[in-house]
Amino acid sequence: MRVFFSEDHRLHFPQAELSGGQFVTPFERPSRVEYILRRLKERGMTGITDPGPADMGPIRAICAPDFLAFLETAWGEWKAAGNAGEIIPYNVPVRRMHTDRPPRFIDGKAGYYCLGQETAITAGTWRAALSSAASAQAATRHVAGGAGVAFALCRPPGHHATADMYGGYCFLNNAAIAAQMLRDAGAARVAVLDIDFHHGNGTQDIFYSRGDVFYASLHGAPEDAFPYFLGFADETGAGPGEGANANYPMPPGTGYPAWAEALDHALARLRGWGAEALVISLGVDAYKDDPISFFRLDTPDFADAGRRIAGLGLPTVFCMEGGYAIEAVGVNTVAVLEGFADA
Ligand SMILES: [Zn+2]
Repeated sequence: MRVFFSEDHRLHFPQAELSGGQFVTPFERPSRVEYILRRLKERGMTGITDPGPADMGPIRAICAPDFLAFLETAWGEWKAAGNAGEIIPYNVPVRRMHTDRPPRFIDGKAGYYCLGQETAITAGTWRAALSSAASAQAATRHVAGGAGVAFALCRPPGHHATADMYGGYCFLNNAAIAAQMLRDAGAARVAVLDIDFHHGNGTQDIFYSRGDVFYASLHGAPEDAFPYFLGFADETGAGPGEGANANYPMPPGTGYPAWAEALDHALARLRGWGAEALVISLGVDAYKDDPISFFRLDTPDFADAGRRIAGLGLPTVFCMEGGYAIEAVGVNTVAVLEGFADA
């Protein structure tokens, strides 16, 4: 299985994340990727390819122009305004105080485009986000060219990013970009299956009214888990997309039997719907020791999940998302990939 990966992910490493009322080292940090690379090499998966520069066409196909302009220019505007630290907005549009008019001043503008204030923007964030999308693009081209499967080792992750909002450690929605590229390459129906512990609110939002991309997600119930405001079971799509969105929220303490039952149900939905190509939002934060999640999956469970996903028999692009039990991230990620490859 070819792996696509860019060293430019290192350009995004905020000093701090706002967590529990304190600034802590971000859970989403560059060392996550080091553990994944180490495990890939241990297991002989050494076909690791730099994706080269991102192609802006497929990014513009998903993201709003003003949002892309914001991500590109935010750091310069923030520094020009005299701010010493990283971009962490504190004023955001909320219930009954919402507007579709982005403020002019960077302080307000950053809040306008933000959906989660745990996520700081730094000098290198834009370039890192582009490099992450480039990995997803290269993996997708590889699969569209007939490879069957590829792994995009994306960092920063993407599934929380909407067409015009960043947050949840995400800036550009890599899985959505990959899904659209598969559509453009000729697949009439593309499925995105999100097995990250967190609901991929961004991916759902992007495809919610479309009937050509099915979004299915297994995740911590929004009553109890980030992103809190989306990911309920009664969100089933809208308009032409009605019936092409399936959420499987699960409570704290969920173990593999219940999780696997939901996975099988989601896979059956995608098969019945007639998916021709598949994007996996591959987070491994459903792991029992993940510091910011509450499921109970163990390493062999991830391998079994990979085997079950392979049962669809579809061309598949894996896009890396979350996983914060740093030392186990590599083992669990590669377990999914090996389970898939062995099946
Ligand atoms: Zn996650």
